[in-house]
Amino acid sequence: MTTQSQFQPSALTTLSEDERLFHDSVYEFADREIRPYVREMDEHAKIPRALVDKLFDLGVMGIEIPESYGGAGATFFHSVLAVEALSRVDPSIGVLVDVQNTLVINALLRWGSEDVKRRYLPKMAAGTVGAYALSEAGSGSDAFAMSTRAADRGGSFVLTGRKLWITNGNEADLFIVFANANPEAGYRGITAFLVERGMAGFSVGKKEDKLGIRASSTCELLLEDCEVPRGNVLGEPGKGYKVAIETLNEGRIGIGAQMIGLAQGALDHTIKYTKDRKQFGKAIAEFQAVKHQLARAATELEAARLLVYNSARLRDARQPFLTEAAMCKIFSSEVAERTTSLCVNLHGGNGFVREYPVEKLYRDAKIGQIYEGTSNLQLETIAKQIMG
Ligand SMILES: Cc1cc2nc3c(=O)[nH]c(=O)nc-3n(C[C@H](O)[C@H](O)[C@H](O)COP(=O)(O)OP(=O)(O)OC[C@H]3O[C@@H](n4cnc5c(N)ncnc54)[C@H](O)[C@@H]3O)c2cc1C
Repeated sequence: MTTQSQFQPSALTTLSEDERLFHDSVYEFADREIRPYVREMDEHAKIPRALVDKLFDLGVMGIEIPESYGGAGATFFHSVLAVEALSRVDPSIGVLVDVQNTLVINALLRWGSEDVKRRYLPKMAAGTVGAYALSEAGSGSDAFAMSTRAADRGGSFVLTGRKLWITNGNEADLFIVFANANPEAGYRGITAFLVERGMAGFSVGKKEDKLGIRASSTCELLLEDCEVPRGNVLGEPGKGYKVAIETLNEGRIGIGAQMIGLAQGALDHTIKYTKDRKQFGKAIAEFQAVKHQLARAATELEAARLLVYNSARLRDARQPFLTEAAMCKIFSSEVAERTTSLCVNLHGGNGFVREYPVEKLYRDAKIGQIYEGTSNLQLETIAKQIMG
């Protein structure tokens, strides 16, 4: 039995020395290497490859990859800290790192055979960006209604279909592509494949022109008789639905982290602005109405952060986290939208123009309620868990 003296829970937001050093180094990097280019990347809708290379050098592109494969050998919680710290400066960089770690590497670690791990993990730690391709034009929330097909040819599968909305489509060299290899079996035919850029029959199509996270590429993928070796099935044929469900359950904690980082970034800018901006002979931060609005936003953000950190810590402790992860995503994305909206208001006219960063963060916040399961779908998950 655990005695009281042995059981010493620490606060969720108390970081270990290692976590704190990691978080601070990622934030300092973001401040120094990303902040100067945020507006330009948003306007050009592009992340320069040189910046992606620096993210690899920093060690945030292979956070959970064991050291034996060249990664950082850290935890899921470290990934959450990295996504939060990066998104505080630019949520587009946040999502690039999020997809790499919480979806692609996560799936490889959990479902990859030893051969798959040996072939791909060292590359993922050293320079290969990953993407996760589930959605299609006709299957978003109802993802398993996909029409991409995989014909079993014995030693290989031949994939045909189109994927839509694929984050990192421009930067990625490795794509986890979901296709149905046995449509008669319904969702039990869905299989996850590792498709490399350069495989015959695979190409990246149009890039979306978006409201927010504009620098993050969102692309269509075309599979035209794309032959994928059998050894590139991730997990087993017919188990792709499990790969998808389990990775997305974890991935949405990463989106929660993106949203709290984004909201913190907007608050940082706004607290500074309200101290500088004078009206009626004093800083607008001195008006009680303004102070209270900021205090309420900071309170909501703290609540969202607790949900995100708790979900991540539960996941690392191998405890159930499904409900908490859905709660953290819906709540943090709503907090991000409310916070950034307030921050635009508190900038007055300056909040409405591109010269000030809150306009972009307001646009960026919107995606949190859409990808990796819309808010309605999160509510469905929560309702199922609490109501049986
Ligand atoms: C910028 C961006 C990046 C993305 N990145 C990726 C990626 O990397 N990989 C990937 O696979 N996908 C990605 N997606 C796709 C994303 O996950 C889907 O857009 C999302 O799941 C919603 O699907 P949909 O767009 O088809 O909307 P729909 O499913 O058509 O939903 C439309 C509306 O109907 C509601 N709705 C649908 N079904 C129900 C229901 N049963 N009950 C109540 N309401 C419901 C939804 O909540 C939503 O409000 C990305 C999308 C965007 C915009």
